[in-house]
Amino acid sequence: MAKIGFIGLGNMGGPMVANLISAGHSVSVFDISAEAVSRAVGGGASAADSAVATAVGAEVIITMLPAGAHVRSVYVADDGVLDALEKGALVIDCSTIDVPTARDMIVEGEKRGLEMIDAPVSGGVGGAAAGTLTFMCGGTDSAFGRAEPILQAMGKNIFHAGAAGAGQSAKVCNNLMLAIQMIAVSEGFGLAEKLDLDAQKLFDIASTATSQCWAMTSYCPVPGPVPTSPANNDYAAGFTVAMMLKDLKLSQEAATTTGANTPLGAQATELFDAYAALGNEGLDFSAIIRHITGR
Ligand code: NAD
Repeated sequence: MAKIGFIGLGNMGGPMVANLISAGHSVSVFDISAEAVSRAVGGGASAADSAVATAVGAEVIITMLPAGAHVRSVYVADDGVLDALEKGALVIDCSTIDVPTARDMIVEGEKRGLEMIDAPVSGGVGGAAAGTLTFMCGGTDSAFGRAEPILQAMGKNIFHAGAAGAGQSAKVCNNLMLAIQMIAVSEGFGLAEKLDLDAQKLFDIASTATSQCWAMTSYCPVPGPVPTSPANNDYAAGFTVAMMLKDLKLSQEAATTTGANTPLGAQATELFDAYAALGNEGLDFSAIIRHITGR
């Protein structure tokens, strides 16, 4: 079993640490939120005083941070984690970040004799808690081969998408599609309400018909049909509007850089941007149904 340092214990990182501990790994944790650290310690992790302190003697470092700027700062700012690791250590960044930063961090790691992959996830907080996340990884065969058994403690489907940054490329495409699907499901359920069609009836039909998708069947934005979805808990996140907006902006930057045509992605970005600007950044992203239906 490995000696792991884990940095970023939020909605996703917290339950991921719990699964690493259940699998028998020894995990040293750090987060700028003392409350998040004490929750992880309650579950069997040991607390480190800083991000760098998690790296001392660690065979593996895992990060689960909000965005590229946080990842860059933790890895390579003054007293960065990459400088504190011993040569040969393995670094796994599970945060969803921009492709250029992911590639840069892997280059920085390799300069220091480390092996590193980008390994963003899909599956939400439910998947993190159940240990059924999908990991999409970018990096060398050797780094991926070492990371795979560690990731198996937290996930069910572990994919090697390609070279450095390929995991983030897969993730940005996935979340572009997810945002559009959540908006589509919201429009469908909004129209059903206007047509006096019961939401549960629409769910029963559509979830076995051609509009079936994860945004409907696992994360339905109306209360009732999927009891575990945030809609039943006043849209407590989950995956926040702010995080979805971040990912949509990443998709639009990538589309601009590559010349890809994403008209619905552009529209989805505008909708989430407008909803966030009304003070809803902290709600679950499925609350976009309120914006669409004017509730
Ligand atoms: P979160 O905001 O709940 O957690 C992020 C954690 O990082 C917080 O606890 C925060 O205190 C900590 N943090 C920030 N800066 C730090 C620093 N410098 N040092 C140490 N800790 C620091 O976010 P989350 O929902 O857990 O998401 C994390 C990442 O996973 C994001 O990139 C997100 O896009 C991605 N993701 C989230 C979900 C989801 O459903 N929540 C699903 C897939 C992917």
